[in-house]
Amino acid sequence: LDPHDTDINLVMYGLTPRYIEVMRSETLTPQMQRVTFSCTDPEGFHFVPMAPDEHVKLFFPQPGTDEIVMPGIGPDGIRPAIDGPRPIYRDYTVRAFDEHRAEVVVDFVLHTHGVGGSWAATASPGDRLGMLGPRGSHIYPTGYDWYLLAADETALPAIGRWFEELPDGKRIAAFIEVAGPTEEVALAPREGALVHYLHRGDGQAGNSRLLERAIRDFDFPDGEFFAWIAGEANTLKPIRRHLRRELGVPKSRIKVDGYWRNGTVNLDHHDPGDEDE
Ligand code: FAD
Ligand code: ZN
Repeated sequence: LDPHDTDINLVMYGLTPRYIEVMRSETLTPQMQRVTFSCTDPEGFHFVPMAPDEHVKLFFPQPGTDEIVMPGIGPDGIRPAIDGPRPIYRDYTVRAFDEHRAEVVVDFVLHTHGVGGSWAATASPGDRLGMLGPRGSHIYPTGYDWYLLAADETALPAIGRWFEELPDGKRIAAFIEVAGPTEEVALAPREGALVHYLHRGDGQAGNSRLLERAIRDFDFPDGEFFAWIAGEANTLKPIRRHLRRELGVPKSRIKVDGYWRNGTVNLDHHDPGDEDE
């Protein structure tokens, strides 16, 4: 443990509305589509090392049109629209950013229940979205001996960044729940990384206890660790509880982030409502 680098550093930025246009859309897996966008105004766009969960709000066209409604920006961030059509937006991880080409890469989970999941299935060059953010970056500490990562497919883009951005010599144990073997995404090779893909099978996403069980069964390596866990909110709660209450891991060494919740449209992951100890 390097005691000088054990805290999360949050850096906040101003909000610049941008528009992004699809350059390429590639199939990563049957249910994961990688879309590369060109982006207006890339100068002030923040993409910071060791901030693997940097994300943006993407604004989708109004139903049946190409029209993208963007929100007003006030001193405290997004101002709710007072009248007129409402912006339609969802959170997505910035998987990669190429400053020179002004390109942003987003990996979309394809599912048919929502605008985001459906939009990506037919994304083609020239299609446009609005974009706000990143609003800030959580810069994660590199002082721990090893990192426990757990995620479902919505947080797999962030896991991809962890594998690329964590300095060499830091070990990773990653648990990733996906539908099946064809949904596994290759991660950057790293020495000392354990990657455990867990297959839920044909059942609905966001219902299984696979991640919780795998972490309970895991023989934790020696050394001090930091845990980063994201995915369907309900399935994460017992994992947080296990780490906090049963293993006594301090709060400052755990980041658990609900990226979506079964049955909820556009979960607000900043709503502290159901964070428990
Ligand atoms: P919504 O309209 O929001 O939801 C409609 C219904 O679909 C609801 O019942 C909901 O529970 C269900 N649903 C939502 N997402 C899924 C899903 N993945 N599988 C099955 N059912 C679902 N998602 C990505 O694909 N890639 C990312 O890089 C990514 N990064 C994220 C980063 C952050 C910080 C956060 C908070 C979320 C991220 N997500 C990511 C998750 C994404 O924002 C949600 O899944 C979002 O709900 C998708 O919007 P939608 O319009 O498809 O579905
Ligand atoms: Zn956010």
